[in-house]
Amino acid sequence: MTTAPNQSAGMALLEWYDRHGRSLPWRTRQGEAEPYRVWLSEIMLQQTTVAAVIPYFERFTARWPTVEALAAAEDDDLMTAWAGLGYYARARNLLACARTVAGQGFPRTADSLRQLPGVGAYTSSAVAAIAFGERVPVVDGNVERVVSRLIKLGVPPKTAVATVTEAVEAMLPDERPGDFAQAMMDLGATICTPKSPACGICPIRGWCAAAADGSALDYPKKLPKRAKKTWHGVSFVVAAPGGRVLMRKRPPKGLLGGMLEAPGSAWGEIPDNPFAHAPLAARWSEAGSINHVFTHADLTLSVFTAQLPRPMPVKGCEWYCAQTPVATLTRKVLTRGLATLTPEP
Ligand code: SF4
Repeated sequence: MTTAPNQSAGMALLEWYDRHGRSLPWRTRQGEAEPYRVWLSEIMLQQTTVAAVIPYFERFTARWPTVEALAAAEDDDLMTAWAGLGYYARARNLLACARTVAGQGFPRTADSLRQLPGVGAYTSSAVAAIAFGERVPVVDGNVERVVSRLIKLGVPPKTAVATVTEAVEAMLPDERPGDFAQAMMDLGATICTPKSPACGICPIRGWCAAAADGSALDYPKKLPKRAKKTWHGVSFVVAAPGGRVLMRKRPPKGLLGGMLEAPGSAWGEIPDNPFAHAPLAARWSEAGSINHVFTHADLTLSVFTAQLPRPMPVKGCEWYCAQTPVATLTRKVLTRGLATLTPEP
């Protein structure tokens, strides 16, 4: 019989964190961290790995060292700096949130932080605990996995939020709630990993029901998978001398909202007549297709290219340097299209 997770488990975890916690650019040890850096890192980390976030975090904080500086950024500059990090609604909310708090500072509790644009249950608790020392449970995907194994949760953790939260609360030490939150995240990221939990060196093994009977890999229970949609579309890569390419901005709302893209069709059924979506009349060459995976849909875009003798005005589009930072999908389209064009002499 194992003991249910309790504050002793939380203290054991803190001791482990002091020796083995990850060193990350937005972290400070002991005491309150800077709210701007905590908030920025937590928004960037939503749906994105630590390794992918680090260079973006460093560039953002070098260019916009305070929330006031970020609030004064031009929308386009921020979207360009965010390009490649994905989930672009986060970037729009980032700016809206910065403009809300600039000059007055971040609110200090999870409840009030949650009122800000783009700040949900997880981010508000993480910022409150890490930046302001509020004693609140912080539950992300890593923590859900750890808790599911600790208590052998028989249902998917997303369907048992209260049970998971209670288990974390039971472990929460009286002091250092921010370090405890980060310790849980680190344990999930480095020890209690999805496919190979290292129970032998886990600091809270003594409280873990799944480790006791060797069933860690049976948890967390999974939600049934939703069938993914399949989308098709067509994109046109138009190049001109001087390394210029034709792009347009996507509508502000929706997938990749406000980001640059090569002109083309909407995404859905295979277009009947691809050339009806071309931005101009030109001699098009076929450049093959690219695939892109969204959370809920797989997209295949057929790419056509044309080389113009000079950049000419095209309605709804503008000419950009081909190296302009763009979303990963657009980079795939441009790379595919430009590879088939004869390089300029
Ligand atoms: S003992 Fe194993 S399953 Fe339990 S929390 Fe630690 S790593 Fe995860």
